[in-house]
Amino acid sequence: MAASCSSSSSAGACGSILQSTADQLLLEVKREAEESGSISEDLVSALLFVFQAPLHQALDLLDRGSVTRYYCTAGRELYRVRGSGGRFYTCLTSSDYCSCPSFVYTVLVKQDSLLCKHLLAVQLGRALSAGARGHVGSREGEEEGKSSSLPTVDEVCVTDEEFGRMLMIASGEMDTTVPPGGEGPR
Ligand SMILES: [Zn+2]
Repeated sequence: MAASCSSSSSAGACGSILQSTADQLLLEVKREAEESGSISEDLVSALLFVFQAPLHQALDLLDRGSVTRYYCTAGRELYRVRGSGGRFYTCLTSSDYCSCPSFVYTVLVKQDSLLCKHLLAVQLGRALSAGARGHVGSREGEEEGKSSSLPTVDEVCVTDEEFGRMLMIASGEMDTTVPPGGEGPR
């Protein structure tokens, strides 16, 4: 079915609507994680509707603790995700970028998905971690025993130098040749 979603002038109007829905859902994930230490079935269904199949894979990656956040004193951050095949990919949240091939083909070229499973795992992990921090920090320790079963993301602080090196490695991971900064909103 041909989607009449013309991208002649502004690149992908439908995409941006979907994107804002996705953003709202991620905020909702954070809120629910913060309030109840879990996310509801309804929310998972909504996430599945927007993100589709990669959602399961992303949750699986999070469950396995495959997502690690690296940050440096300059305030920059990147994520390293261990893919199901054992290979590591680098995700940048500042520009929604992942070094995996699927990101190039499915997200950039075919525009079949909003995010690859790695970036989705990162986005969910961020929301869950932020929510979990809020939840753990909440005053009443009534449910102390069962803190929360939500997967969170490991965090590693690196020096600015190390961080720069990791970015270099990330660009090397990209084995597909994509012209850098060909087209992009200013
Ligand atoms: Zn990826």
